Amino acid sequence: MSPGSLGIEIQTDLGEQLVTQNVGEEIFSFAARIFPICRSITGDGVRRTLREIGSRVALEMREVPTGTAVFDWTIPREWNIRDAYIRDGDGAKVVDFAKSNLQVMSYSIPVRKRLSLAELKKHVHTLPEQPDLIPYRTSYYAEDWAFCMTQRQLEALRDETYEAVIDSSLEDGFLTYGEYLHEGETDDEFLLSAHVCHPSLANDNCSGVALLTELARRMIGLKTRYSYRFLFAPGTIGAIAWLARNEEASGRIKHGLVVSMVGDGGGPTYKKSRRGDSAIDRVVTHVLRHSGLTPTIEDFSPYGYDERQYCSPGFNLPVGLFQRSKHGTIPQYHTSADNLSFIKPEHLLESYSVIARTIDIIENDGAYCNTIPKCEPQLGRRGLYRSIGGKKDIAIENMAMLWVLNLSDGAHSLLDIAERSDLPFEVIRRVAQVLQAHGLLTSCATGAAS
Ligand code: ZN
Repeated sequence: MSPGSLGIEIQTDLGEQLVTQNVGEEIFSFAARIFPICRSITGDGVRRTLREIGSRVALEMREVPTGTAVFDWTIPREWNIRDAYIRDGDGAKVVDFAKSNLQVMSYSIPVRKRLSLAELKKHVHTLPEQPDLIPYRTSYYAEDWAFCMTQRQLEALRDETYEAVIDSSLEDGFLTYGEYLHEGETDDEFLLSAHVCHPSLANDNCSGVALLTELARRMIGLKTRYSYRFLFAPGTIGAIAWLARNEEASGRIKHGLVVSMVGDGGGPTYKKSRRGDSAIDRVVTHVLRHSGLTPTIEDFSPYGYDERQYCSPGFNLPVGLFQRSKHGTIPQYHTSADNLSFIKPEHLLESYSVIARTIDIIENDGAYCNTIPKCEPQLGRRGLYRSIGGKKDIAIENMAMLWVLNLSDGAHSLLDIAERSDLPFEVIRRVAQVLQAHGLLTSCATGAAS
C-alpha cells in the first residue's frame, strides 16, 4: 500500500497539513445522514443505520435472537418506537419525540396514561446544571419508562393533568450488528469497531460510524497485507455477542481500534490496550506525537467503550480506544448539544488521517540491513544528499538517513528507528526506500509492528 492510497497524501515536511480529497466532508455528510435515526441496542434504528453503511460497502448483517446466551449476558428483547409525546390539558404537545428522539429514555416500555404533574415528574430526566440541554438516558436492563427534557421545559409545565404516550414495543426479536471484511494477503486481522446504539448524538457516535464507513469504502480495491474487519455493533452487548460468536476467530486479531467521538476538536485521546505494549499502542502513540495536535496517551482502564470487552482477560486483544475529547469530560457528552454543529469536517479529517497513518505504518513497517555496515557509506559520491526531499526537508532527511543506516542491522524496524530518532515514520520509510534503491539497504524482515 502506498501513502496516499487512503485518500491522503502524506507530506514529508513536518508541520504541513495533510492534503486530502474532501475526506472530512464525506465523513461529515454521512454522519449527517444517519444522525436523525433513532438507534438503540436493538431494533429497526440499528438496521436502518446498517443499511446505510451497506449502501457504501458490502456489509453483512447478523441477527442474534432474543434470549441467546452470550457469555454471562443474554440478548434482550428487541425495542422499537414509533411515536411519543406529552400533551397538556389543552391538547398541545409539550414534548414530542418527532422533534427529538432524545426526549424518550431508550428502551422505555409502552405507556398511555393521564397523570398529574407530580406523577409525571417521577418519569422525567433533566440536567438542572445545563438547563437548555436534553440528557440522553437509557434503561436497557430494568423495565421503566421516562421522558427526557430540558430543565426549562420542565419548569414551564403547569400543575395540571397530562397525557403521556410512548408508542413503543419490547418484544422477542433480535440484536443486529454488521461487519465488513476487507480481505488482505493474510488472514491476520486489524479490527476497527464502532458502536451503533446511540440515537441522535453526532459525535458519540455518528462520527465514528461515518469515519469507519468512509475508511472501509476507500480501502475497496486496495492491496493490503492485513485483512481489515469493520464491526458496527451496539455498545457492550453487541461486542459481547460478536466475541461469543467469534471466539476462535478473534485470535486472528493482531491489531485493533475502537473508534468513537472523532468529530470534535479536542484531544486526540488514545487509551492503550490492556497489554500496554502492543504494536497498535506504539504505532498510534507515534502517529499522535507527530500529528501536530495535542494528544493525550492514557494507560488502559476497564471503563470506556467496547475495548472493555476486547481487552477482558479471557481475550486480552491488542485493541486500543481512539477518541478526540475523552468520553464524559465535555459538557456536550450525552446531551442534545452533541449535535451536528458540534462536529466539523476538519476534525473528522484529522481523526481519519491519524487512523490512515496508523494503518500505513502497520502495513509498511519492516527491518532492513545496511549493505555497507563497516563505517558510513560515502553518501555524497552517490548524490544522496541532493536526491532527497525539498529544500526545507534536507536537514531532517539527512538525519533520517544517518539513523536508518546506523540502525538497519536487521534487529531494528523502521518504527524502532522512527521512535529512536523521534522522526516521523513516513520520513524514515521514504529515506529507506531511497537507500534501498541505491543498494545501501536490503530488506531483512517484517517489522515490529507487523
Ligand atoms: Zn455514549
